[in-house]
Amino acid sequence: MPATLTATHPVSGLPATETVSLSDLSNGERAVALYASDLPDDYRYKRGDDAQLIAWIIQGVTRMGMDRLRRTAALASGFRRSRQANRVTAEQERAHMERFPNAKRDRRTGELASLLTLSVPVSDEARERGLRYLLDGPCPECGDTRQVWASWCIDVDADWYEEGYGPCFLCGGAA
Ligand SMILES: [Zn+2]
Repeated sequence: MPATLTATHPVSGLPATETVSLSDLSNGERAVALYASDLPDDYRYKRGDDAQLIAWIIQGVTRMGMDRLRRTAALASGFRRSRQANRVTAEQERAHMERFPNAKRDRRTGELASLLTLSVPVSDEARERGLRYLLDGPCPECGDTRQVWASWCIDVDADWYEEGYGPCFLCGGAA
């Protein structure tokens, strides 16, 4: 089955003897690889197309190399987080547009990657990596101090809140 399919070409960022298996890629990395592949813009998913999708993912991985793929996926994840928090900076917007000039393709490859993840699960290690993210430039929320002043809930039943510094909700997990 597709899960065991590996790249037949050496992938930069990996030792030459190692191949990449689809389960070693996070959902975000799969989406970025699809974006970089020959996947046609007007592609429509049909049942049984998994092998073709995987071939495109492997093509994208081979084109980008693991290091760039991982970094791009981490930055894309950071962008989505900032967008959710309504904190996208002009620098982030510009960098994201440079990485993914075709917004529709960007959305579509994310959907296709999620669809494929239903049949080819992500390994624990890749899932863990998928939770880490990077931001372009300083964090728009805390300016990279990693801390924000806020009212923190101590005990919701007692309606007990205390003000103070705590981990920044936007970059708290960013390297
Ligand atoms: Zn921050």
